[in-house]
Amino acid sequence: MPFSSLGFSSALLPVFARALAEKDYLAPTAIQAAAIPAILQGRDIVGSAQTGSGKTAAFALPMLHQIALAPALATRRIRGLVLVPTRELAAQVGESFISLARYLPQRIKVSVLFGGVSINPQMMHLRGGADIVVATPGRLIDLIEHNALTLDSVATLVLDEADRLLDLGFGEELGRLLALLPAQRQNLFFSATFPPAIEALATSLLRDPLRIEVQTAPQSAPDIVQRAIEVDASRRTQLLRHLVQSESLSRVLVFVATKHAAEIVADKLRKADIEAEPFHGELSQGKRSQVLHDFKLKIVQVVVATDVAARGIDIAQLPVVVNYDLPRSAVDYTHRIGRTGRAGESGMAISFVSAATEAHWRLITKRHHLNVPRERILGFEPVETQPPNPADPLSTGGIKGKRPSKKDKLRQAAAAMVPESKA
Ligand code: AMP
Repeated sequence: MPFSSLGFSSALLPVFARALAEKDYLAPTAIQAAAIPAILQGRDIVGSAQTGSGKTAAFALPMLHQIALAPALATRRIRGLVLVPTRELAAQVGESFISLARYLPQRIKVSVLFGGVSINPQMMHLRGGADIVVATPGRLIDLIEHNALTLDSVATLVLDEADRLLDLGFGEELGRLLALLPAQRQNLFFSATFPPAIEALATSLLRDPLRIEVQTAPQSAPDIVQRAIEVDASRRTQLLRHLVQSESLSRVLVFVATKHAAEIVADKLRKADIEAEPFHGELSQGKRSQVLHDFKLKIVQVVVATDVAARGIDIAQLPVVVNYDLPRSAVDYTHRIGRTGRAGESGMAISFVSAATEAHWRLITKRHHLNVPRERILGFEPVETQPPNPADPLSTGGIKGKRPSKKDKLRQAAAAMVPESKA
């Protein structure tokens, strides 16, 4: 199905076609094909889709379409609001809007607002209004409290990565923001997962929504090769170095459990002459942007990141993701490996499994019904049989902080009760 059959007005079609061609979007992705006609008709939608599905353009194109065709206002007023969980995602979504709007006859002003940087430039940018605001909830509330903007003209609200918004504790801010929006509006709700809290939010927010589900489970993405390598926790950095060098991995996103681990692993790789940088929430926004920029340009070969920081990273042709520390949950596993194999490209996800994380890995694979073959790399065969000292954050597999939490212990106990044949 071509973009031209999704219901765009013939006046805007050539304009969008030009922008889409520049981005090499030749045909709509599944979520775009399903969502765009419904959004153009004014329907609420609930999209079950993770980052990598093309969901940004699925909402950005029809929102731009609606704004471009609406009668001109005497003053610029915010008509589209996109709430996102992280600053990286905010920046990416903002860039998508700007690039897709490039050839529209009128200038569409997009303001991207997130915390961790000075508020003043954002206040300045909002002078004279904006058409579309892409924001993280906390900073948006700050700006509203500074009278930098109001939300009373918003016609379309997008909650992007809604599950993550709640995971990161934005529930209260979300409630406050929803109360400031006009009751009459279109709501577009995207989430990778639908736990009860998300279902409840969707039900309270949406009116007769069209439900769109695109496959999100990792096993349904055959273009991602998943590998599990057994290795002792203490030898993971050496193994990582070995893999980067022996398999000539050109760009690798490595996930670790803590900021400390991100620093240490990146440092050790650098000492082995591998261009590696840590990426976590305690780095300044400037530093994070620099690392991403250098990673995209292949100046940096390996980025060692924590989950929160890595959320929303969008790097075309990111071939390899490594779970140096396993993710805390099966859902996070999906998010992590979704960093690679995006938009139909092939990718590889490697998970390191040690004696300490064996039970947790079994839980993840069981949850996703995965059958990932185990590998051992010559020279790195594990010798540990007992979980190592849990007080050492780098040897526990770093599931959560220094010592296993109550939840981790329960999880491990539950896993231990699963018979081998069923796990
Ligand atoms: P998203 O899920 O919106 O983060 O998009 C994931 C990736 O797919 C981004 O790198 C987009 O640039 C890319 N993408 C989105 N739509 C298309 C399309 N129709 N054709 C090719 N690539 C796309």
